[in-house]
Amino acid sequence: MPHFVDTSVAGSCIFCKLVNGEIPSAKVYEDELTLAFMDLGQVNPGHVLVATKRHAANIFEITDAESAAVMQTARKVALAAKLAFEPAGLTLLQANGAEGGQTVAHFHLHVVPRHAGDGLTFTWPRKEPGSAMLEGYALQLRNAMHAQAASAA
Ligand SMILES: [Zn+2]
Repeated sequence: MPHFVDTSVAGSCIFCKLVNGEIPSAKVYEDELTLAFMDLGQVNPGHVLVATKRHAANIFEITDAESAAVMQTARKVALAAKLAFEPAGLTLLQANGAEGGQTVAHFHLHVVPRHAGDGLTFTWPRKEPGSAMLEGYALQLRNAMHAQAASAA
């Protein structure tokens, strides 16, 4: 994970300043809801961040329209990166909260072209709790979705 951590208050964060043009960025693409720009760290050439233009801290604060727009922009960037840098693979990474690995509290998605041995690694501890636990987790999530839909109605 990157070492840079932005602790600015919401609305005056580094990505809001990028969106507003108050600080420079190497822009790749923008539309009504999203801005795509080069990540300063560049895990590999073509590493781009897709951020919402509106300040929203994380996935819990973006709208359905913003979430769709972010993925559409990410796909445009991914297709361009495939042509421009010919990566062997490509990883999308989106982090929420400090424990989720988020370092700038303004919603963004990493588009990372990948190459063999590029040093980006994930540890993915499989816990395999078994089918009864999986059914229980699925039930908890379905119940939460019903509760959310009921509260939104
Ligand atoms: Zn912001």
